[in-house]
Amino acid sequence: MERRTGIVRDDRYLRHGEGFYHPESPERLEAIYAMLDGPDMKGRFVPLPARHADHDEIALVHDRTYIDFIASTAKMNYYSLDPDTQTTPESYDTAKLAVGGLLNALDAVMAAEVDNAMALVRPPGHHASRHRAAGFCIFNNIAIAARYALSRHGLKRILIVDWDLHHGDGTQEIFYGDNRVLYFSVHQYPAYPGTGGVRELGSGEGKGYTINVPLKARSDDAVYVRAFTGLLKPVALSFRPELILLSAGFDSYHMDPLGDMRVTEDGYAAMTRILLDIADASCRGRLVGVLEGGYHKGGVTSSVRAVLREMAGLQTFPSAEIARLEGEAAGEKEAVIRRVREEITPLWRVF
Ligand SMILES: [Zn+2]
Repeated sequence: MERRTGIVRDDRYLRHGEGFYHPESPERLEAIYAMLDGPDMKGRFVPLPARHADHDEIALVHDRTYIDFIASTAKMNYYSLDPDTQTTPESYDTAKLAVGGLLNALDAVMAAEVDNAMALVRPPGHHASRHRAAGFCIFNNIAIAARYALSRHGLKRILIVDWDLHHGDGTQEIFYGDNRVLYFSVHQYPAYPGTGGVRELGSGEGKGYTINVPLKARSDDAVYVRAFTGLLKPVALSFRPELILLSAGFDSYHMDPLGDMRVTEDGYAAMTRILLDIADASCRGRLVGVLEGGYHKGGVTSSVRAVLREMAGLQTFPSAEIARLEGEAAGEKEAVIRRVREEITPLWRVF
């Protein structure tokens, strides 16, 4: 089934962090944009414009004093927000544009101008908390998008799926007590930022609405697919999200220089297929992704390509292949998945 897939791309996303070495480099996005201009991709997607998020939109998540502070870095040649996260004079502007680009993608999906969308933006966002930049992230793009969907579109149930190599500690913290936003993360563990254990399940009303799958290093497509079909899918079909947001990080790619996972293009395509199936069953296919990490230039490019082709229905990952991968993850390989299931069974009676 072909779908209209919107893409946010804009050369202004290349301006943050120009001129010094950092793994989260403008060149990552340049490589992705070049891939989009390839003969098998060009003209297949709906271009969506970027825009600047305004102060009130960013304040849906972040402290106003924090936003003002980030704004002040525009006057500095270089500022280090944390050991991993630096600004250049264009960073504040680019960060506002990253949030706004994702909000445009969300609006286009909610208005049914497109069926699903991907915001290919930077800087990434999932480590940023209410008042703190961290791990290459300045504003938490996906958390702002979720709050925006709740307040501006009146949604009541949103699923955030995060397959970045790293645990999205910022996103988790923002929605930890919130039962309107279900946060599901698969990540390498232990690894930066150290959070995301199986017992971190949310608090108060939000108990059960944070689900972490802390995977051992060298986990492969089979394990990721098993986490999606064995945990995410049953929970999500019970939760019935009105929208699925995806923190699409590609540092879980098997050759990524910062990670030690074994996910391939096929693994990302399979996970996208499962997300689309959940979205079709629960929310008319509404799926909005945003780029997070991914530092192997060739890998992030080929993986984004596989995800986009799946989203647009230019390819359909075979269900028999998903079943084969699931079967491969039996035994010791899926021990952590069984542990997570034990933890969440009392909260989600779907197993
Ligand atoms: Zn990451």
